[in-house]
Order: sequence, then C-alpha cells, then structure tokens
Amino acid sequence: MLSPFKNEPLTDFSDSANVAVFEAALRHVRESLDRLQPMLIGGREVLTSDVFASVNPAAPHEVVARFPQGTTQHVDQAVEAAQCAFKAWSQTPAFERAGYLLRAAALMRRERHAFSAAMVIEAGKPWVEADADTAEAIDFMEYYARQIAAFEDASDRLVPRAGERGQFRYIALGVGAIISPWNFPVAIFTGMMSAAVVSGNTVVVKPSELTPYVAWMVVDLFRRCGLPAGVINFLTGPGAVVGGRMVEHPGTRFIAFTGSRHVGADIYAKAAVVHPGQRWLKRSILEMGGKDAIIVDASADLDEAAAGIVDSAFGFSGQKCSACSRVIAHADIYDAVLERVVDRTRALRVGMPEAGLDVDLGPVIDTRALNKVTSYVSIGRGESELVAGGSAVEMPDRGYFVEPTVFANASPDARIAQEEIFGPVVAFIRAGTFDEAITYANDTDYGLTGAVYAMDHQRLEQARREFHVGNLYLNRKCTGALVGVHPFGGFGMSGTDSKAGGPDYLMHFMQPQTITERL
Ligand code: NAD
Repeated sequence: MLSPFKNEPLTDFSDSANVAVFEAALRHVRESLDRLQPMLIGGREVLTSDVFASVNPAAPHEVVARFPQGTTQHVDQAVEAAQCAFKAWSQTPAFERAGYLLRAAALMRRERHAFSAAMVIEAGKPWVEADADTAEAIDFMEYYARQIAAFEDASDRLVPRAGERGQFRYIALGVGAIISPWNFPVAIFTGMMSAAVVSGNTVVVKPSELTPYVAWMVVDLFRRCGLPAGVINFLTGPGAVVGGRMVEHPGTRFIAFTGSRHVGADIYAKAAVVHPGQRWLKRSILEMGGKDAIIVDASADLDEAAAGIVDSAFGFSGQKCSACSRVIAHADIYDAVLERVVDRTRALRVGMPEAGLDVDLGPVIDTRALNKVTSYVSIGRGESELVAGGSAVEMPDRGYFVEPTVFANASPDARIAQEEIFGPVVAFIRAGTFDEAITYANDTDYGLTGAVYAMDHQRLEQARREFHVGNLYLNRKCTGALVGVHPFGGFGMSGTDSKAGGPDYLMHFMQPQTITERL
C-alpha cells in the first residue's frame, strides 16, 4: 500500500548548505558539456554523423550537448520497436508499471540538483524555477503511479445483473507519440511520458530541439531503473521532420503534445487523417498556449495584486503558458496598481541564471524568442504606452536578455493584448466595471489560466461563474500549479481540455473495455 501522495518540497536556498550543493551540481554539469549523446531505439543507442548542438541561451557559444539529427527512418524504427514492446508491457500488471515510476522518482529525488543544474544551463532557468521544474517531474511520477490503480478495474461502477459477471476496466491504447516543449523541459516531458507508460502504452518521445540534454537525462534515468527496452524510444531532431512523421505514422495510436498553438493545431489536423494500414482513429491530447489575464477589482489588496502580477508575468521571463500577459484593472485603482507593478518591475534583476539567487530573470530561450519579444515591443509602442523596460539587455558574449516590460493603456483588442508573446511583456487594460473586466478577460482565443484579486466576495463568486479558463485562481497569482492540487490545462485554443496532474488525466491514455461472462 502506497502512502498518500504529497507534493515534493522545494529546496530551501536560504540554507547555505543547499546553495553549496547546488553550486557543486552546476560545476558537475559544466564538466560534462559538449558531449555527443545518443537517441535510444528498442534499447539500442543510436548515433548519426549528422548532429545538432543544444546551447546555453545565456551564453550561446557554449555547447551543452550534441545530438543526432533524427530522420523519418529513425521514426519508423522507433515505432516498430515500440510496437514490439507493446504486448508484454501492456500486460505487465499496473502495480509493476507503477513501480518503475516510483523507482525513477526516487532516483530523481536523490539526483534532483543534477537535473535542475542542467536546466539552469540548457534552458536558462533561474535556480528556483529549475528546482520547481524538477520537483514537478517527481510529483508527476509519484502521482500517476498512485492514480493508475483506479483504472485497472472499475467493475464496481457497473450495475450488477443476475446470471452474468461483468467487468469494466481501462486498457492501454498502443504506441504513443510524445512531443514536448522546452519551457518545462523536465516536468512536462516526464509528465506526459510517464502518464502514457504507466497506462500500459509504449512510446516514441521527442523533446524540443532546444532542450534535448535534460530530456535525455530523464530517459536515461528510466533506463537505469531497468525499464524494458522498447517501452520508451527517444528521438531527437527537427520538429517538422521527426515530430511530423511521429504524428503521421500509421502505427501511432495517440499523440500527447505540449507546445505552441500553431504546431498543436497542425498536429490536430494531421492526426485526423486515416493513413493506409491504420486501424484506428488517432487520439490527440494537446496542450497549447495562453493569453492569461489577472483582473484587479476596486476592492483588491493592491500590494498583493501587484506582487502576484509581477511574479506571474516575469517568472522565468514570462516563458510559461500560464504567465500573466494581461492585467485588467478597475478604473478606480488602475493608476495605483500600475504604479506598484512598475516599481516592482524596475527592481527586478536581469542576469546570468548560473550566478545564483540574485537573478530574477535569465535570458529568453533563443534569437527567435528575442526577436519576437522585441518586435512585439515595437508593436506595443504603436498601440499603447511603454511604462517599464522595453529594451534588449546587451552583455558581451552573452545571450538573449531582455528587460521585463510593462505597457499601459492597451486596448483589449490590441495585438499585445491578444497574441501570445511568450516573453516578459505584460499589457495593462482599463475596465470601467467588473462586468467589463470579465468580458475583456474572456475575449481571447485562449482559456488557460486567470486570476482575480478582490476582497468583495460577490466579485469572486461572479468570477467563478463567468471567467472561462481551465485554471482560475482567486486572490493569488496565476502561475505555479501543483500536481494533484491544481490539475492543469485550458479551454479554447489552449488545448483539448485535459488536466495534467489531475485525477482523470490517465483516462486520456486508455480505452474502456466491458467484459461480460454468462454464469
Ligand atoms: P513548439 O510548438 O514550437 O514546439 C513543441 C514541440 O513540437 C517541440 O518538440 C517541437 O520540436 C515539436 N514540433 C515542431 N514542429 C512540429 C511539427 N510540425 N510536427 C510535430 N512536432 C513539431 O513550442 P515550444 O516553443 O517548444 O513551446 C512553447 C509553447 O508551448 C508556448 O506556446 C506555450 O504556451 C506552450 N506550452 C503550453 C503548455 C500547456 O500546458 N498548455 C505548457 C508549456 C508550454
């Protein structure tokens, strides 16, 4: 019997001993930089002569690791390996499958700083954000290992019938394509993969080209735990080529994807096509972007609201799908809350994430991200008023740094108030009434997270009824969802309405079966 699920505690960096251990972990990552790492197909390490480099976004001349440029042939081999492993794995008792997740969680817990330190260098995450990413990955494994028991035999939900013995259970789907983003490169990768695998599926996994090293560390962890060959097949390479073939391969039964709206919508369309030799309709579990709003009511505690806004907008440089990118403030307190947010924003320190706890914002992930942010800053200057930040931060030999940026007096339909920027930019919108604030908040294509700061209970009740987002937070920030506590996922163009880290998430990776025996 397993103990009840508990969230993994975060590292206490006010303890100098923890700081010293983390610094040692960073040094250790540095000692193993720029090595060639493999793909893994059917338990076999695969290398190619054609490789690509993953680099440190804070210092892009630094190569973190090199990986094979996977091809469509590698996808075909990986799907075949996953098909071969499927029968034995899907018939392995659920508690044994869960055992692998628990072993991997225990090992990751023991080595947690190695994962976090690698994310500091490969993804440019500040220490605290990297530590939370690793803790979330451990949570996913611990949580799904406990959830699977509820699906193995659900016969007690059947209506009994005399003369028959009924069985109702959830069984695996088949081979899954798991495609993950760079922004939670350990947690999301581990979460989607372990949900699929504990449900009895075998998988082909492909991390973002920007963060393959930390993903490989996770795959290697499962290998060290003795996971049978072929259950997890790991490919690296260009999204359109490797990911594209994984989606379209007739042997793929389902796709679990987290990433941009553009790629997610493309996968949705491609997964709907039935290819020759394909004997099923593919299922797509898609988690996409957000344009998340925090509403500040006239009754709010403005200091709390300002702290929550700054944390939600600029944590990990706004590179979270849940990041606050719109503030909709009641006209009566608009100026006061804006002033508090601007003051707090100006106090944030941009710097090298490796430097430690004094850094609030590291780099954005690559040149494309930097260009996107700066082009939205130009757009924002044209359609609203720049009140903080707005410039790239130049540092010799350094990467893609940009100031945390605040725009005021944005119109609710301005581009900076409608389009996902995925960087440290937040737009303030003025609302005459609370009704108007809710209307503006709901008026986007997305529906991922949202928050309301209000002391007036009626306002909070109205938000519960009318603010249409997958994760609504009242009087707290809109980022930082915890596995099991805040099951996570959005509506509209934010995804296919599933909830990662929630009690029904594993159902997406399984199909229900009824067996009736005449007595
Ligand atoms: P992305 O869509 O560019 O890439 C995601 C993954 O898809 C990568 O592994 C990439 O290689 C792969 N890919 C790219 N083109 C492909 C194709 N044609 N076919 C198949 N796979 C392909 O996203 P990103 O930049 O890595 O991540 C940032 C985005 O992810 C943001 O939009 C963010 O909001 C979103 N996100 C959403 C959630 C959520 O839970 N809703 C969580 C994290 C990130």
